[in-house]
Amino acid sequence: MFEGITASTLLDRDPRLEDVMCSLDSVGKMPHALSGEIREAVAMARRFNETVARPYALELDRKMQEDPTYLPWDLVREANRWGFYSGWIPKIFGGKGWNLGTMIPVVEELCSECAGIANLIGVQYFGISILFAGWNVRIIDKICREVVEGERNGEPCLVSGLVTEPGAGTDAEEVELLSKANVKCLARKVDGGYVVNGTKVFISNGHVSTWHMLIAYEDLSRPEETMILFAVKNGMQGFSFGRMEKKMGQKGCPASEMVFEDCFIPDENVCMSTEQMKGMRRSAKETGMQLIDFVVSLTRPGVGAMGAGVARGAFQEALAFARETVVDGKLLVDHEWAQCLLAQMYANVALARLTYMECSHVTGLYGMASLLNIRPLYYYLRATPTSMLDRIMPAVNKLDATTKTYRKLIMDMQKDEDAMRASGWASLSKFAATDLGIKNCHLAVEFMGQAGIRQDRRAEKILRDAKLLQIYEGTNQLNRLNLFKCLIGRCAPEARLFEE
Ligand SMILES: Cc1cc2nc3c(=O)[nH]c(=O)nc-3n(C[C@H](O)[C@H](O)[C@H](O)COP(=O)(O)OP(=O)(O)OC[C@H]3O[C@@H](n4cnc5c(N)ncnc54)[C@H](O)[C@@H]3O)c2cc1C
Repeated sequence: MFEGITASTLLDRDPRLEDVMCSLDSVGKMPHALSGEIREAVAMARRFNETVARPYALELDRKMQEDPTYLPWDLVREANRWGFYSGWIPKIFGGKGWNLGTMIPVVEELCSECAGIANLIGVQYFGISILFAGWNVRIIDKICREVVEGERNGEPCLVSGLVTEPGAGTDAEEVELLSKANVKCLARKVDGGYVVNGTKVFISNGHVSTWHMLIAYEDLSRPEETMILFAVKNGMQGFSFGRMEKKMGQKGCPASEMVFEDCFIPDENVCMSTEQMKGMRRSAKETGMQLIDFVVSLTRPGVGAMGAGVARGAFQEALAFARETVVDGKLLVDHEWAQCLLAQMYANVALARLTYMECSHVTGLYGMASLLNIRPLYYYLRATPTSMLDRIMPAVNKLDATTKTYRKLIMDMQKDEDAMRASGWASLSKFAATDLGIKNCHLAVEFMGQAGIRQDRRAEKILRDAKLLQIYEGTNQLNRLNLFKCLIGRCAPEARLFEE
């Protein structure tokens, strides 16, 4: 049957089976206990929705509408009490070590109730993923343990991620666009550290966070080659909170302006710099893209899960409306046309979910935390109490040799094709699932009309919340281009990317 050719040669042809059916490999390689972990995590999120999010979502939305400067500390404390802010921190850094594969189904659950509350919880891991992306293990350990301590003592310690600037949003998330971007956040080397000037905008959870993972540039004429990553703590001189954005949706999650005016950041808070990149396998520009890809490969499927969540929220509203509304003498849910429309909405939720679950398999196999899924390590960490690891890991994590080893294992040894697969799928899920989310919101609003929307404003809120997902983590336009770059580009090598 395969005369003169092997099966693997055929499967290596585009579309490569490994690229398009990642779950196939994942099924064999992932630890079996993971499915149990996902079930537990989803059950916990449903309980949180029932007891915390649902009763409060509309009230919070209204509160923030009336006073956009209101900070939802009550909810942050509650989420802290539930363990959400340290849950997905690996045990070797003091956290609970929930597997990352459990996070995005939780995001869908939370988002099906309220995208603002979901983001108030989920965006913690945007900040934390930036912290991890540089693999400076000493700083990772320090900040993660503060988050855990904040949970123990009831004083939440949140971490925000600072990428977007007034003149650079989408452009700041792709090194090929960085050279054309209007970035202004400059880090100038001085004795013992850096002096940073610039402004970051639209920073989720900014005002309620303690640590801020800041991306700046050492040379504004070459930002794509001079990216530098800092950990900034509240109270550092020259760092201040600016205004809070007046958002149209996801109001429950504050979005902040952060200002740096001659802010001195000591060397010990530099998580990654061109200096630290010396000796690594990739060039400074490639390492910059790897950092971005590490982050977005983990977080864009989270936005995809938010898309699935809002699609589901809209579907659930429409179904509830159909079950209690009489049209032409019978319940809407008994009309065939309504059943077809609800079936389409259900399918949209399922399709959105499939994209982020496939993506979860991809990141589980190839993303920056894939080592934690290697079975012996997974089961060892699962069985070992955090208190035992706490006795040795802080000392180990402080060593320069530990950082060097992690950087070698995770950064240098990551294959380019694995990085592309993870990044491409993350973009696919992000734009496909958020577009489906918007689609379901429109269907629900049209289906229910004014009568349905007036009922309790939930449908209208879901639509407002959903719209922001299309630009969160780069516009859907950029994510389509990134998918082209990562997974289609190989089939069309003559294509010139990011030209226009
Ligand atoms: C809910 C929410 C939470 C957020 N949280 C954070 C956060 O915590 N931290 C953070 O750093 N940022 C955050 N952001 C910012 C977000 O990452 C940016 O909004 C996003 O990158 C898009 O940038 P922008 O808003 O400047 O839009 P732009 O990039 O200016 O895009 C505007 C329009 O221009 C088009 N466009 C842009 N560039 C190109 C191009 N090269 N070619 C063709 N068309 C183009 C886009 O398609 C879009 O239609 C958040 C945003 C939202 C909505």
